[in-house]
Amino acid sequence: MRTVTWPDGRTVPALGQGTWKMGEDARSRPGEVAALRAGLDAGLTLIDTAEMYAEGGAEEVVAEAMAGRRNEVFLISKVYPQNASASQLPLALARSLKRLKTDVLDCYLLHWKGSVPLMDTALAMERMRQAGHIRSWGVSNLDLDDISALDGTGCATNQVLLHLAERGPEFDLLPWMAARDMPLMAYSPLGQGALLRHPTLRAVAMRHGATPAQVALAWCIARPGIVAIPKTASAERARENAGARALVLTAEDQAETDAAFPPPSRKRPLAML
Ligand code: NDP
Repeated sequence: MRTVTWPDGRTVPALGQGTWKMGEDARSRPGEVAALRAGLDAGLTLIDTAEMYAEGGAEEVVAEAMAGRRNEVFLISKVYPQNASASQLPLALARSLKRLKTDVLDCYLLHWKGSVPLMDTALAMERMRQAGHIRSWGVSNLDLDDISALDGTGCATNQVLLHLAERGPEFDLLPWMAARDMPLMAYSPLGQGALLRHPTLRAVAMRHGATPAQVALAWCIARPGIVAIPKTASAERARENAGARALVLTAEDQAETDAAFPPPSRKRPLAML
C-alpha cells in the first residue's frame, strides 16, 4: 500500500476519503456511513472533513462511520477562515470535536485564507497542538506566496485542487513543498467525476483492466508525498477507488496522459473550488 510520511513522523495512506456533500440529507446518511466504513475496511483510513460541509453534518456522518474504530483513522477537519482567529479557533475546534465524538484531531486545516492574518492562525493552531487537541495542523488553498510566509511555523500540509485536468500546482507549489518534505493533499482528484469521461482515461483504464477513476487516482499518487482524497457515497465505489493503490502507470500511460493533459509550462494562480 502506498503511504506518505506525515511531518510528525506518522505514516498515512496515500489514498484517503473526502466527505464534501455528505450529511446534507438524512435519507442519504446510511449509505454515506456504509461507504466510509467500506473505505476504512479497504485501507482508506485517512478521512477529510470540514465544519463547512453541511454545516457540521458531514462531521456527524464521519463520527458514525468511525464509531468504535477511531484509532484506525487519521482524522482531518477544517476551520472556516472567519473562525481562524486566536479567540474563535479554539471554540470552532471544540464544536468539531464534539460533532466528531473524539477528543483529538490528527490534523486541523485552515480551509482557505480570509481576513485573519495567517500568522495569527498559525499561533492559534500551535496553541491547540500544545494543548493536545490536535496532533498537527496545516492549510488549504494557499498558493506559493502565502504558504512560503508560513515556512518554519510547523505547517504540516497544504490541501489544494490537483487532478489530471488541474495541474497548476506542479509548476512551483508542489516542488516547494516537496523540498520541505511537506505532503500535498490533492482534493477533487476525480475532477468531481467529470474527468472520468475523458477518452484518454478510458483508454489507459482499458489497457490495465482498471476503471477511469482508478487511473485518475493512480496518477495523483504516483509521485511521492501526495495524498489524494476522493469522495464517494457508494461502498462499491469506495472499494473501487481503493483498488487504485495497486495500479502502477507505465511510461506509456504517463506519456499519453501528458499529451492529453499537458503539465504547466508557466505559473498560473492556484485554482480553487
Ligand atoms: P472528487 O473528485 O472526489 O469527486 C467526487 C465525485 O465523483 C462524486 O460525485 C462521486 O459520486 C464521484 N465518484 C467517486 N468515486 C467514483 C468512481 N469510482 N466512479 C465514478 N464516480 C465516482 O470531488 P470532491 O470535490 O468531493 O473532492 C474530494 C474531497 O476533497 C471532498 O469530498 C473534500 O473532502 C475535499 N475537498 C476540499 C476542498 C477544499 O477547499 N479544501 C474543496 C473540494 C474538495 P458518488 O458519491 O455518487 O460516488
